[in-house]
Amino acid sequence: MKIARFDNNRVGIVRDDDVIQDLTGALAQLPAHRYPFPHHDALIANLEILNNATTTRVVPLTRVELLSPVANPGKIMAAPVNYTKHLEEALADKGIHHGNLVAEIHKAGIFLKATSSVVGPSEGVHLVHTDRRNDHEVELAVVIGTKGRNIAAAEALSYVAGYCIGLDMTIRGTEDRSFRKSPDSYTVLGPWLVTADEIPDPGALELSIAVNGRVRQQANTKDLILGVPELIAWASSFYTLHPGDVLLTGTPQGVGPVRPGDVMVASLERVGEMRLLVS
Ligand code: MN
Repeated sequence: MKIARFDNNRVGIVRDDDVIQDLTGALAQLPAHRYPFPHHDALIANLEILNNATTTRVVPLTRVELLSPVANPGKIMAAPVNYTKHLEEALADKGIHHGNLVAEIHKAGIFLKATSSVVGPSEGVHLVHTDRRNDHEVELAVVIGTKGRNIAAAEALSYVAGYCIGLDMTIRGTEDRSFRKSPDSYTVLGPWLVTADEIPDPGALELSIAVNGRVRQQANTKDLILGVPELIAWASSFYTLHPGDVLLTGTPQGVGPVRPGDVMVASLERVGEMRLLVS
């Protein structure tokens, strides 16, 4: 199932013939949470409400504004250099590392991005500090579906709700990386969530990003240093994972700068493609 959030917080299923079946009425079945709100995303924690939902209308994909498939992630976890070739390019380019320690992921650990940085493709990326280098990083994004702590790698994929494309936008510079990666719109999730049953092996997916029609990054998740199961196991040995938590698995080689006016097109095998503007 491809689950999209679109327009004014509507929810639907994307079909192969490029239309969305609007199932927004099903959201009325979600538990009514009151303050204090839970750490999880209410829809991701209750995706089964969509199974027998009534379609109220069918809309062409070209006519909708796609939002982040996760409305309220409790945390955005992100793997730093998790592809060997990106580690090599980061070490070689002072414009990327700025004298910061660049270490392989086993030493660097997983970092967090502000949840307020999340947008969907229709919202675009709005650069701040345009006097500095702002880079795209295309990544496989994993959305957690089941609460868990100390999850074994062998069981980890059963904790996944689904997958989408993640853009981990980054200002290069000397500050701590979570600061430089957390401005509003610096985490793009989209174009929709593909449920885990459709992607039995997240470790064999082609991903790419083109800027103004030129391919910048092209790789396969088989080259991840720590794969999805190992990342989930490691993250959950430090903190509880909740439905709707997002794990950005790291970016491959080919990161590069974007400027206002650029158009990015990112794609992920078995998921699809998303186009967005930089302003
Ligand atoms: Mn990244």
